[in-house]
Amino acid sequence: MRSTPHTEPNNSEMTHQFPSLSPEQKKELSEIAQKIVAPGKGILAADESTGTMGKRLQKINVENNEENRRCFRDLLFSVDPSIANSIGGVIFFHETLYQKANSGKLFPQVIKEKGIVVGIKVDKGTAGLNGTDGETTTQGLDGLSERCAQYKKDGCDFAKWRCVLKISDGCPSALAIAENANVLARYASICQQNGLVPIVEPEILPDGDHDLQRCQYVTEKVLAAVYKALSDHHVYLEGTLLKPNMVTAGHSCPKKFTPAEVAMATVTALRRTVPASVPGICFLSGGQSEEEASLNLNAINQVPLLRPWKLTFSYGRALQASALAAWQGKAANMKAAQEAFSTRAKINGQASKGEYKPSGTADTASMKSLYTASYVY
Ligand code: 13P
Repeated sequence: MRSTPHTEPNNSEMTHQFPSLSPEQKKELSEIAQKIVAPGKGILAADESTGTMGKRLQKINVENNEENRRCFRDLLFSVDPSIANSIGGVIFFHETLYQKANSGKLFPQVIKEKGIVVGIKVDKGTAGLNGTDGETTTQGLDGLSERCAQYKKDGCDFAKWRCVLKISDGCPSALAIAENANVLARYASICQQNGLVPIVEPEILPDGDHDLQRCQYVTEKVLAAVYKALSDHHVYLEGTLLKPNMVTAGHSCPKKFTPAEVAMATVTALRRTVPASVPGICFLSGGQSEEEASLNLNAINQVPLLRPWKLTFSYGRALQASALAAWQGKAANMKAAQEAFSTRAKINGQASKGEYKPSGTADTASMKSLYTASYVY
């Protein structure tokens, strides 16, 4: 390339930008994102793969077949419509998107009629990064654009893709951070072209004995890399949501930290790395008990620092555990299970506004740790 001997800007060397989304596309994406995280609302992650659902059902001695998976999802989705006060979006797994409620209606229709946005998991799980200490990237880019287009036609307005990083002496490696940031950005860009709001999920696992400070440091490095990659790929941030881990000490760290300490570390890390243009940050529960996940979210929304985004939940385990325990696979327990789910959703809705006041009567199911080592979703 010819160099210019003087200081005038040389257009051919300037960073360029080709239009990728029309103003109408941007408007649609940002409206979807804001609807999902409207005040007091979060997300129900019900996108467990068939294998993961099997592990959940096994705990209550229910066989992992299509009908039983449908029954449990039906129980969640056909709950009282007031659920829409605290749930703004539901993430589906492919199978569930094409199943029907007992009423005969397709599940996406049941959810939409409640005024809740329908989302879909589009990643295809993790694959090893050879030459690393067991680190991974996430697969599913092949054919993703076509799949997104079909999901949009079938009623979806947002998507989820989970990347997984782990903390140890040498992890996450620079390779794992860069590779996962880039694949999340490619996914996000493809979703937006197809009218789906991408939930960007770089989950840092809670496995290990590291302390709170180490988790905060790693979370900052990972999120900084993710937002650099999203910028490089021209992703429209107003039309995205972030799904991060909370900053917590490792599961086997001997020192325990209070919700206020977890909250301060979490909000500090986010303020250093997540642009204010991102409308919402929806935490995963990552093996915390239902009650712990609610208390931490509540504390996060009470941190006395400027928080320019909605800080809410996108919980799987921490929204479903007591409902599963109440259900036990029996039709007669359906009402009790729905009640358990409604209660957790309502509590988390309050926590997303920093308004949850625990009554001190949390039941045993809601206090039970939901941690599994090296969790696969
Ligand atoms: P947990 O809340 O159970 O961690 O799962 C949320 C999720 O969707 C992980 O991808």
